[in-house]
Formats: sequence, structure tokens, C-alpha cells
Amino acid sequence: MTKPRVWTTGDLKRVAELAGTMPERELRRRLKLSRNQLKYAVNRLRSLGVAVTTRYYEPQLETCPVCGCRRATLGKDGICEPCRLKRQLEEIEWRVSELMARLTPEQRAVYEKSEAQRESRADPMPKPRPTDGLDGYERAKASEEHDAAMEAWAAAYLKRRVKAAQKRKERIQEKVNENDRRRNVRQEGREEAGGGHQGEGARHEGHRRGA
Ligand SMILES: [Zn+2]
Repeated sequence: MTKPRVWTTGDLKRVAELAGTMPERELRRRLKLSRNQLKYAVNRLRSLGVAVTTRYYEPQLETCPVCGCRRATLGKDGICEPCRLKRQLEEIEWRVSELMARLTPEQRAVYEKSEAQRESRADPMPKPRPTDGLDGYERAKASEEHDAAMEAWAAAYLKRRVKAAQKRKERIQEKVNENDRRRNVRQEGREEAGGGHQGEGARHEGHRRGA
């Protein structure tokens, strides 16, 4: 028999706060309660209309070391899908800026203007479920479900941006190739026109291209 104890509102509040956030054994150890005492507190809280459970929700998600978010998709490289896509996007953007530098100022101006209008649209952000009246188990579960929904939402948006960036890169690459082709044709023309003099210009251009 455990000796009867006097429950203060503070004691009950602590049970309500912690119940469901850890396995029951741990909860009892932490609050220094016997099984019966915990049962009593839970019943008492429920009779007061407090949604409480000792059922523990085992977390399904892991924390991504890069963004610090709880994620469902930590791959073999240990980072989440949104972080992986962000890196991929950065690499493509970097390549795009390199290619942009090889366009003429006029071409660049046209691209900057048209690309700005191509912004990828995001789906509406998932909303968290209201947690009023939920017990700790249901709250923890709802919270993870929301995190997972946010992750899927972010990944879908980033995937769209990666795709758009890839297309942009291809379009600019094509333009750059076209510039190179034209330049070569011009150079060949000049060389045929026969001037050892023009060689200097060609060397200069070649230099710039390599930069
Ligand atoms: Zn991440």
C-alpha cells in the first residue's frame, strides 16, 4: 500500500503537462509516483475535464543536422530532402550566374526581365490542426504530422524551383552556345579576309571566354 498523499493543484498540473510526453515508467520516476498514484492523478484530472493520457507517442521523425527541423526524409547523406534540394538549387543558380556573365549586356537584360516573371508558385502552406482538447499523445502526434506535412510542402516547392532553374540554365546555355557559334563564324570570316592583324582580337575574345 502506498500511503495516501495530498494532491495540490500544482502536482496535478505537473502530471497534466508531462503525461504523454515520455514513457509511463519515466514519467512515474520523474514525478516520484507509484502506479496507483499516477492512475489516481489521471482520473482526477479527467474528472476535472482535462484531456490527459499516459500513452506515450514515440517520435517518428529525426532532426536534420542542417536545418534543425524534425524530418521524415533523412537520406543516406544524413540531410533532409528540402536541404538536399536547396543545395541542388544553389548549385544550379551558381551555374546560371556563370552563364549569365557570358551573355551580352542586352541579352542579360532581357533574361533578367523575363526570368523575374517566372517565379515558381508555392501551394498553400499546410495549417496545423487545432490541438484544443487533445491529450499529450494526440498533441505530439498532431505536431509530428504537421512537421511532416510542412516537409512535403517545402520539398514539392523546392522541386518545382529546381526544375525551373534547370530549364533556365538550359535556355541560357543555348544562348551562350549560339553566341559562341556566331563569334566563331565571325572570326573565321575575318581570318579568311586575311589579316594577321585580326588575330589579336580573336586571342582577346578567346581569353574572355575562358575566364
Ligand atoms: Zn534539413
